[in-house]
Amino acid sequence: MLRIAIQAKGRLNEKTIALLADAGISASVGSRSLIAHAKGFPVDLLLLRDDDIPQAVAMGTADLGIVGLNEVVEKGVDVTRVMDLGFGACRISLAIPREAVYNGLEWFNGKRIATSYPAILSKFLRENNINAEIHTITGSVEIAPAVGMADAIFDIVSSGGTLIQNGLVEVKSVIESQAVLIATPNLSEEKREELDKLSFRFRSIIDSRGMKYVLMNLPKSSLDEALKVLPGMKSPTILHLADPDWLSIHAVIPEAQLWDRIERLKAIGAEDILVLMLENIVK
Ligand code: ATP
Ligand code: MG
Repeated sequence: MLRIAIQAKGRLNEKTIALLADAGISASVGSRSLIAHAKGFPVDLLLLRDDDIPQAVAMGTADLGIVGLNEVVEKGVDVTRVMDLGFGACRISLAIPREAVYNGLEWFNGKRIATSYPAILSKFLRENNINAEIHTITGSVEIAPAVGMADAIFDIVSSGGTLIQNGLVEVKSVIESQAVLIATPNLSEEKREELDKLSFRFRSIIDSRGMKYVLMNLPKSSLDEALKVLPGMKSPTILHLADPDWLSIHAVIPEAQLWDRIERLKAIGAEDILVLMLENIVK
């Protein structure tokens, strides 16, 4: 039976549980226990702090893990990166006080930088020939410059709001991160098969996110025009209606293009347009 390490609580917890639930795996987590047995798929969930997930997977304490790529890279452990999961997006960036005069990366020479990601930072500084002092702190990195503990920080940024609140500006993004599925390097044949099933489910869920299923009635005479507007998995589905002058068209459209496509379809006579949620795309 596969054991998956997930964050016990924090920013990744809810979306991880939601992804598992969409994949048909439900577990009664929320209790204080470390392990939860799941229903719907033969897995156990190991509830950990995110910092401990890469190592738990590298050691084989858990077969799989769902954790931010930032933690995986920082810990530098030997795990297989199975797939990106499309949530928990952030970057780790260098930020300096707003009033500082920034002249490029050289600005950091001789400076003290506070971070919870010393490994990623020291590699970056080395590669860029910058000589700075790294101060490793585990929480509230963003207040370090204001209290005189550091001249700059290297920390997680998503919207940038926290930086602004603390009088800092981002000057260099070093790595982009999101939640990833990782696996222990030596999975048994049997567990590998289970992982394939699980990643197949995850893939179909992730692929369907941001996509809409659209149905409409279209005058037959507009079909050629409509085909230019519509994407689709392969191509749109065309069904005949009882009225020989009309067709029913079904297509899968990325959410970002939805309104543009609908306006163009309406302009060529599409009517009765239905937009539906897509739950899974199984390829
Ligand atoms: P734990 O108690 O498990 O150690 P934590 O406090 O270290 O939790 P969280 O703040 O819950 O960590 O963040 C978990 C992960 O969420 C980060 O490592 C990162 O991959 C991702 N993340 C996405 N956006 C942000 C953000 N704005 N701030 C912090 N982390 C973010
Ligand atoms: Mg943590």
